[in-house]
Amino acid sequence: MNIFQGVRDYRLLNRHLYRFSNEEIRAFQLSELQKLVGFSMKHSRFYGDLYEGLSVESLEDFRQLPSINKQIMMDHFDDINTCGLKLAEVRDYAVQKELHRDYLGYYQDQFVIGLSSGTSGNKGIYVTPKSMTERLPFVFLARSGLSSRDLPFRILFLLRVFSQGFEDINAPLINLNYLSTMTPVDEIVRQINDDRINILMAPPSLVRQLLPRAGTIKRPLRMIVSYAEVLEKEEKERFQRSFGTRVIEIYQASEGQIGSTCRRGNLHINEDLVYIELYDKDGQPLDRPEPVATTMLLTNLINTAQPLIRYEMNDLIQLGESCPCGSSFRVIDKVLGRNDDVLYLTNRNNILQPVYPDLMSRWIITTSDSIREFRVTQTSYSRLEITIDVLDSTGETRAAVTEQLKTRLTIELSSYGIDADLDIRTEAIRLPETMAKYKRFIGLAPEAADDS
Ligand SMILES: [Zn+2]
Repeated sequence: MNIFQGVRDYRLLNRHLYRFSNEEIRAFQLSELQKLVGFSMKHSRFYGDLYEGLSVESLEDFRQLPSINKQIMMDHFDDINTCGLKLAEVRDYAVQKELHRDYLGYYQDQFVIGLSSGTSGNKGIYVTPKSMTERLPFVFLARSGLSSRDLPFRILFLLRVFSQGFEDINAPLINLNYLSTMTPVDEIVRQINDDRINILMAPPSLVRQLLPRAGTIKRPLRMIVSYAEVLEKEEKERFQRSFGTRVIEIYQASEGQIGSTCRRGNLHINEDLVYIELYDKDGQPLDRPEPVATTMLLTNLINTAQPLIRYEMNDLIQLGESCPCGSSFRVIDKVLGRNDDVLYLTNRNNILQPVYPDLMSRWIITTSDSIREFRVTQTSYSRLEITIDVLDSTGETRAAVTEQLKTRLTIELSSYGIDADLDIRTEAIRLPETMAKYKRFIGLAPEAADDS
C-alpha cells in the first residue's frame, strides 16, 4: 500500500467534506459522472448500447439515463464489467472460496470479488479492483471524525463476512487486525487487551454482546465504529455510556461507500464517492427529510471496473437536517432496510450463540443456484423454519435442493457447536413492493438480558 497516496486521499477527502459548497459538489459530481459515463460507453458493451445517442451535459441529463437493478446487472455481467471478467468463472471462484472458507487472495491477483444476496435471494457479484480496496482505509479515516491527534490507530475489525480488502493494512501508525464476529466474546476481549486496541469496528449486535464485558477492557477505547446494521439512537447512547467512548456509524454496501460520520458525529452521504438520487412514489426527486423516498438510485463514482450507474438499491435512506459541522454533504438521518434479525441458537455448551444473517445467507445462496428466494424464521433457540423458493423446479429438484441445503446448514452450524432442528420447505415466496422493511431473517430476542 502506498502511504503517500493514502495521505493525499485523506487530505482531499477532508477538503471535499468540509469545504465544498453545494455548487462545488454539483460541479464535481457532474464532472465525475461525465467521465464515468464516457468511460463506460467506451469500455462496457452494455453501457455503449444502452446510452447510444445520449449525452450528459447536466445533472438533469444524467437523471434521464435509464436506470438498472441487480437483475440487469447480473444478466449483463460480462458486458457491464470493463475488465473482461466472465460471470461463470467469477461465480465459480466466489462459491469455491465460500465453500472452503478461504477468504484471502485476489481474483487474478487484481480483484476483490464480493457476494451479496440482495432482494431476489440470487447472488449479486461485485467486483472491486485491488488498487481501490487498498485506498479504502484512508477513506474510512478521513470520514470517521478521527484526527491525526488520535494516532496511532490500532483497529480491531470484526467482520461478519470475511473479505480480503482490509488484510494488508499495517502501516507505521495504522494497524488493523480482523476477527470473525463468530469469535467467542472472551477471545475478542483478550485480543482487545493484548493488542491494545483503541478502535473497535463491529456491527451493533456484536457490541451488544460485549456490553457485560465492558469493565474488563483495560485501556479505554477511543472509538467504536458501527456498521452493517441499523444503529438505533438509544443503543448508540448506551454503548457510549458503557464503554466511555464515542460511537460512530459508517454506511457501506456492496455497491459503494455510501455514508460516513463527520466530526460532529452525524452520518453524511459521501457525495464525492457516490451519487445518490432519491425519489418519492410519484417519481419526483426528493431533497428533504419528508416524505421518505420510495426509490434510491446509486452511482458509484470511483469504481470503473464494474460501473454501477443509476443502480436501484434495496436500502432506503431518510435525509436529515443540515449539520452543525458545516459540511454541505447531505445528512442521513436514518437508514431503512438491513432489517434482518440476528439469530440466537443454543450451542453444545448451552450458551446462546449469535448467527449473523449475512453469514447464513451466504451458506444458503451458495448451496444451489436454484434457490431463488428464501426466508428463515426462528421458532425456538434450537429450531429454524426455512422456506425456499426453488427456480423452475420439478418435485424431484425441490427434494434434492432441500436435502442439499439441510446437509450444508447442518455442517456449517455444527462447526459453531450448534445442532439445530431444521425444518426446510419449498414454497413460492412473494416479495413486497418496498423492500426497505422486508425481513428475510426473523429471530427471537436473546433470553439473557444484557443489562448495562
Ligand atoms: Zn456533519
